[in-house]
Amino acid sequence: MFSDTHCHLTYIKDRGENISPHISEMKKESFRFVQDIGTKPGDLQPRIETVINEAGEIPGFLHFSCGLWPAADIIADRDNSLFLLEEDIKILTGKQKAAVLGECGLDRYWNGPPAAERIAALRNSGGTSPDDDGPGTTDIKGEEDLFGRQLDLARKYDIPVIIHSRDAFEPTYEIIKTQAMTAG
Ligand SMILES: [Zn+2]
Repeated sequence: MFSDTHCHLTYIKDRGENISPHISEMKKESFRFVQDIGTKPGDLQPRIETVINEAGEIPGFLHFSCGLWPAADIIADRDNSLFLLEEDIKILTGKQKAAVLGECGLDRYWNGPPAAERIAALRNSGGTSPDDDGPGTTDIKGEEDLFGRQLDLARKYDIPVIIHSRDAFEPTYEIIKTQAMTAG
């Protein structure tokens, strides 16, 4: 009996593959719980629609979260992104018993000093980013603000969070601790 606590079904579609064989396989294997994780502002409804379009229904075991991954474009546009996220949270909390916010957090593989190095290298080579992921952002204050404000939202709606933390244990822990201490 399997479960999958962290998947991105629409990424499969983004790669040009069909989702329905994966869902059929999960049904066949009697998956008990599958959590499809949100990463972008406003992605909840399109993700739900993609599954319905491809699989005909939302299987009972499949749950959706919504959250903002610390991507450079989202950090730069975080006021608007957080507004769209809150709209999705309202939909989610009305729809699912187990609403979750995530993934959200810090990524110091992509953001911070490594991003500065990648941006400098790109500038020197006069080239473009080697893949769609981009070079990341040096705006770590913005990254931390985006994370902290998502924790605020989770508290406001009284829902748990799914945390993304890559090469960032200490600052991630600091933000969570600060939030916990300021909790009423
Ligand atoms: Zn993920």
